[in-house]
Amino acid sequence: MKIINNIFYENQWKKSLSKKFFSRKSLINKKKFFYPEVNRDDIQRVILSAKSGLKINKEINLSERQKFIYQIYEKILKNYRILARLETLETGKNILDAQKEIIHSAKIWLYASKSLGSENYKTVLSKHHKAIVNFEPVGIVALIIPWNFPFVVMSERLPFILAAGNSVIIKPSEYASQSLFYLMNIIKKIKYPVGVVNLITGSGPRTGQLLIGNKDINMISFTGSTQVGKKIMKVASNQIKRLSLELGGKNSFIVLKDANINKTINIIIDSFTGNAGQSCVSTSRLFVDNKIKKLLIKKLLEKLNKINNFKKLYGLVSTKKQLDTIRNILKKNQNLKKKLIFGSIDLKKSNFIKPIIFCDLPEKNIINKKELFGPILSINSFDEINDAVNKTNSSKYGLSAVVCGKNKRNNIKVASQLNAGRIWINESVKVNFPSLPIGGYKESGLNRESGTEGLRTYSEIKSVIIKN
Ligand code: NAD
Repeated sequence: MKIINNIFYENQWKKSLSKKFFSRKSLINKKKFFYPEVNRDDIQRVILSAKSGLKINKEINLSERQKFIYQIYEKILKNYRILARLETLETGKNILDAQKEIIHSAKIWLYASKSLGSENYKTVLSKHHKAIVNFEPVGIVALIIPWNFPFVVMSERLPFILAAGNSVIIKPSEYASQSLFYLMNIIKKIKYPVGVVNLITGSGPRTGQLLIGNKDINMISFTGSTQVGKKIMKVASNQIKRLSLELGGKNSFIVLKDANINKTINIIIDSFTGNAGQSCVSTSRLFVDNKIKKLLIKKLLEKLNKINNFKKLYGLVSTKKQLDTIRNILKKNQNLKKKLIFGSIDLKKSNFIKPIIFCDLPEKNIINKKELFGPILSINSFDEINDAVNKTNSSKYGLSAVVCGKNKRNNIKVASQLNAGRIWINESVKVNFPSLPIGGYKESGLNRESGTEGLRTYSEIKSVIIKN
């Protein structure tokens, strides 16, 4: 496979003016990838490209934009195996999961190409007044992507950015860019209007900062850590740039006393170990009704003890930085060994972490508070459901939750009490649908992505009052 080490603008791969590169080693085949380290001049050129792209995309209507989006869907689907392979190279994901992710991503492009209605509408206000409400593009969007699900995260945003008439400058994570490079080849191949989609690379926070700080960027769509999200909010405040933030989480799983235990343990395992726990919606806290606690833990451990290919099933920890973060937290908490019921906290320097489960950790313990982003689960129990709900809602985050139980009404009642943007009932966090909005409460983010909300997020809404 030809490795491209340029940046993408004016619908072409171009050499970076900086002539500097950084490299990343593949976790799968140990090959090195080289990516351009862009400078201010590069960004200026890419902005010019995005400005002309914005003009073109603004002028064509939603249905014309959707034709292009449909072509991208077709190409993604046709090439899903290649894209999945590229996605595994730097992230160390399991290939089957990567294939499912690419197919899910294609479905989002399909949804955006077919299901979004024109948001323009007329309203009669009074006998003498009517109104027109228009959805217009925001402008040039800086789209900053993390390393854990590069293609899915991009696909939850880009089709809606394009459908709303914007142009975009994508900055992939310095740890995982290959699948997004391939997308640029698709853009080129289908002759997408020139300058609408652009991509730059860089090895650290500096590139992202140069991009979002540029006065011509109208909106920042950032997916990543809450810590960086807060910095981005500060930069955006100078010009009141539009913002969409999808950030971290500390996500609960609540098991009610009438839950089907055999089904629930499978959902638990999938929800905390998927992608080696490196998913923003991954479960990291489990609250189980005391009446079934013993049985649930017994069955969960029996099931886990039968699995001998975790590495193949759930993939690797994608970066050394992430591995070090987890190792350091566990190292500092050696006293927690007595609360460990599965796995080991003495981690080797390998990118593989066998799932780790703690039970009955004190509420205040760091493992119960901090987003760890690894296959680590902390189990606590409750007598009254309010206790589990209150502990879940006391987190500074509010991204996702799972509720398992038999009584449908009761499940929905519990879900309605939780402060989280996405809740699964009797289902694992790996199951997704393109038509649904996703986003977080509190420090988990701002705004919603995908679904009809996706189009609104990337639109300026203008209302015009007309006197008859
Ligand atoms: P990160 O915040 O370190 O980096 C995310 C992106 O921001 C990268 O492209 C990075 O290069 C860039 N960046 C870093 N510092 C920057 C700065 N100062 N200015 C501009 N850009 C900057 O996050 P990560 O380690 O790549 O991803 C893991 C985090 O992402 C986790 O916290 C996870 O929960 C979160 N995440 C959230 C969602 C969601 O939808 N809520 C989805 C995926 C990941």
